Amino acid sequence: MSKTIDYIEPIRISEHVTYFYWGRHPDHPVIDMRLGGGGLAVHRGKQAILVDTMNVPEEAVWMREYLSKKCGVREFRVINTHWHADHIGGNAACLGDPIIAHRRTRELMIKHAEALEAGTLWSHPPIPVVPPGFTIEDRADLWLGDYRVEVHRFEIHEEGHLAVYLPAERLLLAGDMLEDPLWALNLRFASPELQLAEYERMKQMDIERIVPVHSTRETILAGGYDKRIIDANAAYLRGMLAAADEPDFLTRPAADFIRNEIQRGVLTWWEPYTEVHEYNKAAVSRAAGKMADRTRKR
Ligand SMILES: [Zn+2]
Repeated sequence: MSKTIDYIEPIRISEHVTYFYWGRHPDHPVIDMRLGGGGLAVHRGKQAILVDTMNVPEEAVWMREYLSKKCGVREFRVINTHWHADHIGGNAACLGDPIIAHRRTRELMIKHAEALEAGTLWSHPPIPVVPPGFTIEDRADLWLGDYRVEVHRFEIHEEGHLAVYLPAERLLLAGDMLEDPLWALNLRFASPELQLAEYERMKQMDIERIVPVHSTRETILAGGYDKRIIDANAAYLRGMLAAADEPDFLTRPAADFIRNEIQRGVLTWWEPYTEVHEYNKAAVSRAAGKMADRTRKR
């Protein structure tokens, strides 16, 4: 990844939220650059909470300088939604700031530190690993003056994953729990049934708008997603599970599982997600095998 940052686009989501979109680069060697995504900041006056630190320290430096120069921010805190490299890559630019994450995120960062620092995971460039100094469990509130920033854990996508909910704006910053057009399935730490139940729990929240990390620029510019993306991502997993036993499952394209949502304009197709879908089919096959084993043993 180039050290010169000329690709970040700050998109103002609301008075207190800015999305730092790193764009979509279909030929980039790093998958997260091919998929497209961004870091987020919740800011008010001189204070900001960075929600994830993007891929590499240089990007986090860019985000901080922007917030300092354009918004007058002097005091930073950081939340890492989960331990994946494109969410913690810039932590080293935040030394001295409180870095907050779920306890499991800290443990998993430390467990995988050698691989993250060597750059041997997910074709991500090497990053310095700076684990959070504060850990939480299922819920916490942070404050920017009297503006409440709620942190909620859901068992979706990765262990210890946190979402940030801003009640004053009914806005959910969903990390990688929601993604357009499909999400990366990890069914090892929590069963598919549990992850689907977690989507239901998320749907019960008073949410008007949603900003995931990996999303389509045009949708973000139009104000973000609504709750239909929760149904769409849940339907993708449900459809994959229902089809896992069929003989042609491993050759079926992603379009088979998200056609309605694409047609209705809830999701937008982006070709590099073919790769994520291939990985997901393998994950679903493994999980379906395990579920069949459990049924046989009963
Ligand atoms: Zn992730």
